[in-house]
Formats: sequence, C-alpha cells, structure tokens
Amino acid sequence: MCVMSSGVEPSDPPSLCPVCSAKSARFEVGQTELFVCGACTHVFRGPGTQGDNKLFESEEYVAWRAGSIEQTRIADRRISLLDEFDLPRGRSLEIGCATGEAVGALLSRGWDAYGIDVSEYAVRAGKRLIGEDRLAVGLSPGIADHKFDLLLAFHVLEHVPDIRDFGGMLRRRSLPNSYLYVRVPNWNSWSRKVSGRYWPSLMPEHLHHFTEVSIWTWLHSIGYTPVWVGTEGRGREWLGALRRCIARDKSVGSTSEIAATTRRLEVIDKVERWGRPWFHLEERVNRGSELVAIAQRDPH
Ligand SMILES: [Zn+2]
Repeated sequence: MCVMSSGVEPSDPPSLCPVCSAKSARFEVGQTELFVCGACTHVFRGPGTQGDNKLFESEEYVAWRAGSIEQTRIADRRISLLDEFDLPRGRSLEIGCATGEAVGALLSRGWDAYGIDVSEYAVRAGKRLIGEDRLAVGLSPGIADHKFDLLLAFHVLEHVPDIRDFGGMLRRRSLPNSYLYVRVPNWNSWSRKVSGRYWPSLMPEHLHHFTEVSIWTWLHSIGYTPVWVGTEGRGREWLGALRRCIARDKSVGSTSEIAATTRRLEVIDKVERWGRPWFHLEERVNRGSELVAIAQRDPH
C-alpha cells in the first residue's frame, strides 16, 4: 500500500482495528488523520470520530435523487449482478434504501422486497415511487417481525460507527443460508491512488475504508462466507474527476484559454474511448472504485 511509504507510524496509544482488533498505525492524507490495520489492512478514522450524515438525510439531497433516471439506471445495474448467482427468490431488505430504486429493481425481478432508511424525506419520496408498504423509516414493527433471505447495504458500511454491532444486527435480521450483498468505496482503487487527498470518499462522514482483505475479514467475523468479491469502476470515476478539474473555473476566460480547455477535454474523451481495455483491466485486478461483495450466511 502506498500509505506505508508516506508517514505511517504506530499509534500511541494503539488504536485497535474495528474489524479484527489488531493493532493499527496512524497516518495522514492531507489534513485527514487515519489508521491502517496491521493485519487486515482496514483503514479507519480514529476512535470517537462521529460522522455527520445530515446531508444524506436532507430534503435537498432527496429532491436531487428521487426518481432520477440516473439513480434508477444505477440501481438496475447493481441488482442485475445478482442474476449471475441465480439466488432463490424470497424476501429482501435493503438497509439504507434512500428513495427505493434498488427495492423497485428487486420487485421487478420477483423478490418480496422491502427497504429502510434513516431519512424520512427519502422514504416519503420512495413510497410515492414504489408503494406505501415497501419502505419504512428504521425498523418499523411490520418489517422488524421478518427475517430475510437477502440483505443489501449499498454505501452504508463506511458510515456505520460500530461495524461489528452492525454485523450483529444483520445476523438477527437474516435467515440461515441467506445472502448479503454490500458495496463500499474501494480504498485500494486506482482512482483513490490517482486523486490522493482529493479522493471524494475521504469525506468526514466515511468512518471506514474497506480493502478486499478487510471486507473478507469482516464478513467472516459476522458469520458470512464470501461468494464473490470484486470491484467495479472502469476508470469512469477518475476520468470524471479529471474532467471536473480541467473545466473548473474555465467557463470564462480568453478565447485561447477556452480553446486550450476544450482541447484538454477532447484528449480525455479520447482516453476514455481508447482506454476501455485498460478500464476492464482495472476491474480484472480489483482496482475499480467500488468494492462489491456477495456473501452467504452460515446455517446456524
Ligand atoms: Zn483489521
């Protein structure tokens, strides 16, 4: 890991890894203090750090994403991954369902799908989209009575203060031999290494940064066996970041400046077009921007 060569030092007193309890070492990325586990390579914020997730619960955020074609398309692509594993259809629960697009995608594939979220704005908007009884704020009595054949949590784990406690909650809500499908930002992604301190996932709300090894370790620790762990990304995220960087503050300026910016953006377009095989390589060597895991619960 590149962090090993950039100021990693043993923490004093030692911070224990929230995934495997091994000792960790402290390091910094820009102004952000982080710890890396010496055993499972999990990266995390220091003890006592509390993320502020108000943005994701706000009315503005919900208004931005509710019913958007892009969100529906993303949800459908994420759920279509399950088709490859041919899971027996049953009852599913998405934790952190926001406005319910993935719940809708599961319903259309024959699942008895439900979703919960902390944001009442999101749940209210989602109910209008997919149905009154499918979504709830937190574990309402109707949903809490059930145990599920499939649990899903997309971009939730990195926000959870106590990741083991969260794992215990998942077990209590799941049936023996049921499945768990999670997605998190990938600490070992090329996009993170390219963007350094500007990596969007360094936001203070993200308390955990998973690696392939740490997600395996966490899944085993809560009684799940990984069925598939991989990454997705294909370079789109870091090319997008590069585009925003090039185009920033360049909407006004001299004719020659605007022409230069346009030329640079055209180069990025060419990189995207010709670089497709390399972006597939990013996934093949598990360096995509999103870490994806599907796991099966033990039968006990
Ligand atoms: Zn660890």
